[in-house]
Formats: sequence, structure tokens, C-alpha cells
Amino acid sequence: MKSWTAPVYAFYDPVPSIEYISGRKCQVFKCSGTACRKEIRRYQDKSDANATKGLRDHVQSCKCWGAAMLEGVKDLKGDDARKAARSYLKDGSITAAFKRLNKGTVTYSHRQHTKMETRAEIVRWVAESSRPFTIVHDRGFLCLMKTGRPGYYLPHPTTVSRDVKTVFAKTRMRISSWLRNYDGKLNFATDAWTSPNHCASRIPV
Ligand SMILES: [Zn+2]
Repeated sequence: MKSWTAPVYAFYDPVPSIEYISGRKCQVFKCSGTACRKEIRRYQDKSDANATKGLRDHVQSCKCWGAAMLEGVKDLKGDDARKAARSYLKDGSITAAFKRLNKGTVTYSHRQHTKMETRAEIVRWVAESSRPFTIVHDRGFLCLMKTGRPGYYLPHPTTVSRDVKTVFAKTRMRISSWLRNYDGKLNFATDAWTSPNHCASRIPV
């Protein structure tokens, strides 16, 4: 099992059971999706005894995961993939949703955002693009978001404001722990300016 580093294993319970079906030995992988728990058999008397296709096929069609999730962990190995899958399952914290945002090339998923992902994306958007929290009540924005899917979830401005504070506090904690744990000397320098168009001045450190 040590050689099983393919990210797809992250979506199944860590240790498969071994069963004999009509005398044929097979590994039975149980889907970790709490609402699924489907068992996938992998027969050991075939040349593709270690193939992951069957496992990948199920993850893609599984209601708990889906193709986008499998794609999201494709560059992760073993434990990292498992962590990502677990934080996705919990879906309980906004920072967990944040960790899943892909870096690098921009591609768009075929799967709609979960509520938690929408909230994380909006936090990122208002922060990166300096948008007011009330933009989620903006007529044009609502029209773009809800046309074709009128039930689409959008958070209240108060929720956006609270989420920004939560993410700020957690990020500050994380950065402070990086700095505290850094084994060496740290340099701090400040630089500030005001732009002529009355935009807020920035203080990069
Ligand atoms: Zn499943």
C-alpha cells in the first residue's frame, strides 16, 4: 500500500478490505463520501490489478466528489490529497474552502460552487478588487448571478463582512506563526506612498 500514492486513493477509506468473490481475490475500496460509501471492487487476478480507472470513474460520478474535485487534487500525493479531500468533505469552514482555490492557470469548473465556496470566492473578490461588502446586493451583479439559476445562493453583506474578518484573523495568525517559527533573522522594512487618484496608500512590508 506504500506505493499507492495516486491522488484518487484519497477519496476512499485508507485500507481496503480483501474479499473473495467466487474464489477470486479482490480489494474492496469504500468511498469516503459520507452520503455515498459505495464499494468498488478491484479483482487481483487480472493484469490491471493495480489500475485506478475504476476508482477514478466512481469519484467522477460520485455525488460527494465529482470530476472537478478529482481534477483539483491531481497534482497532490498521498497525504496531501487525503487532507484536501477531508477538508472538502467537512465543508464547515471558510478557510477550508479557501485552501481548495486553485493557483496558476485559470480554468472554470462545470460544477456550481457550494455555499461555502461562494462565500470564500466573495471574500477573495471584495478583498482583491476593493469592492464594498454591499456589492452582493448590487442589481447588476444579482442579475448576472441569478439569471438562469434564480435560487443561486449569495451571502448577505453582513455575512461577507464577518467572513472577511474571519479570514483576516486566521491569516494573521498563520503569518505570525510562520514568522515565529522561522529559524533565522528577519528583516522588516516599510515603504508608503499616496497615489494621486485618492486611492488608499499601501504599505508593503
Ligand atoms: Zn462515492
